[in-house]
Amino acid sequence: MKMKRNILFYLVGIIIIFTLNTNFGQSRVTKNKNYNIKISESKKMKKTESEWKRTLSTAEYHILREKGTERAFTGEYDGHFEEGTYICAGCGNDLFVSDTKYRSGCGWPAFYESLPESVEESEDNSFGMKRTEITCSKCDGHLGHVFNDGPQPSGLRYCINSVSMDFKPKSKEDTQ
Ligand code: FE
Repeated sequence: MKMKRNILFYLVGIIIIFTLNTNFGQSRVTKNKNYNIKISESKKMKKTESEWKRTLSTAEYHILREKGTERAFTGEYDGHFEEGTYICAGCGNDLFVSDTKYRSGCGWPAFYESLPESVEESEDNSFGMKRTEITCSKCDGHLGHVFNDGPQPSGLRYCINSVSMDFKPKSKEDTQ
């Protein structure tokens, strides 16, 4: 009888230890997840509004920081088809390559694909429309919107303000 009780205590002990270990394991994973989020947040370029006002032109500030839109068919890169990379006018983050740019006829530069992890999407319900806003993943600057009416292979149309971007031409060394 005493032996049976000892075995029972032993089993209960094992179950308690196993449960505690599992819980500790879970809390470790959660901590790691939070840690990763902090790392990606720390990679962001953070500036105060007055710093942005100082470093950006009036038009860049309006579009990148106040989510403005340039007038259709007026942008510097709408009809621009040189080889190179389009970078964020706010922070220099690489956003799109010229190979993915196409003539959409919408009045703004259009791309069917963004560079990996270069942009972030969020729901935009302003002006009574349901759209997906595109922002720079590094400085959170407003770039434009993405729509589902683009060409293959992605079927996407990244409709981006010229003012939100600068252009880095492909250097001669790259083409040799
Ligand atoms: Fe940026």
